[in-house]
Parts: sequence; structure tokens; C-alpha cells
Amino acid sequence: MRGTNHPPAHDTAPEPAHGDPLRDPWVPAVRRALVEALAAPATGDVPVGAVVLGPGGPRGPVLATAHNEREAHGDPTAHAEVLALRRAAERLDGWRLTGCTLVVTLEPCAMCAGATALARVERVVYGAVDPKAGAAGSVWDLLRDRRVNHRPEVISGVLAGECGEPLSRFFRSGRPATGPGTGPGSGAGSAVASTGGSPDGS
Ligand SMILES: [Zn+2]
Repeated sequence: MRGTNHPPAHDTAPEPAHGDPLRDPWVPAVRRALVEALAAPATGDVPVGAVVLGPGGPRGPVLATAHNEREAHGDPTAHAEVLALRRAAERLDGWRLTGCTLVVTLEPCAMCAGATALARVERVVYGAVDPKAGAAGSVWDLLRDRRVNHRPEVISGVLAGECGEPLSRFFRSGRPATGPGTGPGSGAGSAVASTGGSPDGS
């Protein structure tokens, strides 16, 4: 993580592996969220992770991290995004997360998209899409609905494949079923198609 910046070795191909100016800057933050996601299955939770970065875009300080803890606490609202937003607000000593970015491995559900807008987050960056319960462009697009007065910027599909992989694996391996409607929800397992995971818990 340290060392000299950009050794000028290749003048012609500075970014050989990528080349997406919109998404590439967010890759490190999404990877951080992925590390969080991988901790969720320890409690039977769907592997979704989130990070809140303070003002400064991709280089903003990490204010909070969280993973799905719905099963861990028996709390239907304990989605990674909500927990991360709460922790960031505690850290800032206020609910307005102005200038902050919510980074999450899976497209937010309706609850989390709503919480994000209420927190006045400036931007939402996510990895895999959730075609069954996503509320940031898939099933709904709450974050860009013109009727809402605060509309964060949305950047989707950052490391989508890598973010979806743990979800696929989780559902493929047979998650502990705790009842009907054990949907993912911030943990949505519906994300990556063909996972066989249940749809959002609603
Ligand atoms: Zn959610």
C-alpha cells in the first residue's frame, strides 16, 4: 500500500488491466467492502459488505465498515448498508453524511436505498446487481427518482463479478434456512443470477 507512486515505466499503457475511468478509482473501496462481506457467513448471514468513505471521493477516509448481521442479531434491518451508515453517523456525531460515499458489494434494497438518501450521502457505489430486490436501478431506482429531493450519484458494477461470487457460493452451498422469506436483503442472494438464493426478504 505504500511505496513510490506510479513508476513511469509504461508511458503508453498506464492502466493495462482496466481502463474504466468511472469505476476504477473505486476498486480499492469495493475490495474493502468485499473483505467485510466475507465475514458475514460466519453467523449465517448473506455475504454483503459495506464501507462509508468520508468526503474526498475514492480517497476519502474510511468512516465505517459493516457486513450483514441480520441473522447475527435477529434484526431485520441489520443490513450492511444501514449498519455502516449508523456507524459513520456516530463517528461524525451527526446524521448528515454530506459528501460521503456508501460503497457496497451488492445493489442496495429499498430500505437501504431509502436510508442512504435520508443520510444525504453524496454517492453510492456498488458491485453486483440484485435483479430481484435492487432499488438502485434494477427493480426500482429510488436513488434517482425525480420525486425524491436528495439524489445521490450512483456508480454501479464495480467489481461486479467478484462481489457476486461470494453470494453465489453462499447460496450454492445451502445457506442455513431460518424460515420462509429469509431473503437476502442487503444480503440479497438474488443478486447473481442462478444462485438459487431466495429473493429479498419481503
Ligand atoms: Zn438493504
